[in-house]
Amino acid sequence: MARIQIPRGTQDILPGAVEQWQYIEAKAREHFRCYNYREIRTPMFEHTELFQRGVGETTDIVEKEMYSVRNPRSEDQLTLRPENTAGVVRSYVENKMYGSPNQPTKLYYIGPMFRHERPQAGRLRQFTQIGAETFGSSDPAIDAEVIAMVFRFFEKMGLKGLRVDLNSVGTREDRARHRSYLLDFLNNVRSELCEDCQSRIDRNPLRVLDCKNEKCKALTKDAPSLLAYLSEESAAHFAAVQRYLTDLGIPFVVDNRLVRGLDYYTLTAFEIKMAEIGAVETLCGGGRYNGLVAELGGDDMPGIGFAFGVERLLLALEKQGIQLPVEEGIDCYLVLQTSEAKAQAFRLLDELRQAGISAEMDYLDRKMKAQLKAADRLSARFTAIIGEAELANGTVVLKEMATGEQREIPAGELVQAIRGH
Ligand code: AMP
Repeated sequence: MARIQIPRGTQDILPGAVEQWQYIEAKAREHFRCYNYREIRTPMFEHTELFQRGVGETTDIVEKEMYSVRNPRSEDQLTLRPENTAGVVRSYVENKMYGSPNQPTKLYYIGPMFRHERPQAGRLRQFTQIGAETFGSSDPAIDAEVIAMVFRFFEKMGLKGLRVDLNSVGTREDRARHRSYLLDFLNNVRSELCEDCQSRIDRNPLRVLDCKNEKCKALTKDAPSLLAYLSEESAAHFAAVQRYLTDLGIPFVVDNRLVRGLDYYTLTAFEIKMAEIGAVETLCGGGRYNGLVAELGGDDMPGIGFAFGVERLLLALEKQGIQLPVEEGIDCYLVLQTSEAKAQAFRLLDELRQAGISAEMDYLDRKMKAQLKAADRLSARFTAIIGEAELANGTVVLKEMATGEQREIPAGELVQAIRGH
């Protein structure tokens, strides 16, 4: 029979690699707790309309990349989540979290996202994002805190040479003021822009500045900067974010072309980049989205958040030659010289495990030498050998693999002896 292969753009995370994932997830949880964030878990699919409204009809995600399904027996049009801000906002509104006495509301999530993209290194169709969202505060200190939180996390993972690209995309009013100047400029170069950009001019002209095409970049180099059209209030907010970041020593550069793909951003937009990742150099993207909660049927509550991809973080770590200090190996392997010792070993194994000691024995009727090899392959810290004599005496020979040190102890003292180390 023909073999069925894994779908394009997805990956299996196998033992050996999964420990790194567990490490990153555990460290992220610990890190976010220090900033008073709590975890939220929302469904992996939502009503398609949530993303149409929450991400924006004119974005690549909604236009080209969503996996949508309709169950033939129901009317529901559902979509596998391409990102999680919309889902978290929906949940925030639906569960009336704005009414909680603990404000601002600080939430984080870890989970898979799905986009129909052209797969390449660091770009998958199922990928994992770790992200956070904060609702209820427009304080620029919160913007800086959110950026600092993810920046410090990357630092904790050991990454070097990170850079925050920072911009303000203003409010809707700021953008409306800027729009006619931008349109004038873009219409002048229209015929030379790529096809995508030509259609962006009519639907969402700001996104032309986000085009990765070198020719488009060059043509729009001198396009009117949104920063020049910010209201006094928006400009003050942006200046304050920069001051706070400077105070914390977080390196950033203002990039007035950074507009991000999603429609709902207001004021602060940012990305965290690392030079070495190459083609896909963005590790993390985020920003403020003060209109989104109202857009999705809630009260007009400000919000800000970010997300980064775990696959891309792993790629970055690999590029910088950073080994995460993951724990591998088991505590103890029970080696049997004779099959008569099996029942005794099986009980001992249970005892060790109940005591929280990871332990293993042979289930393949292997000779003693092969059992020792198996212990070695599992990087067992100890082996406990039970031979005929030991079986008769109720003892085991405990050997610490790192030192080769070996002694005979009563089987009943095995747990204690291993714990003692
Ligand atoms: P976005 O939601 O597009 O702003 O993406 C935020 C972060 O998620 C990016 O900086 C990447 O780290 C990660 N990411 C986005 N799309 C993908 C993808 N297709 N494959 C892997 N990681 C992705």
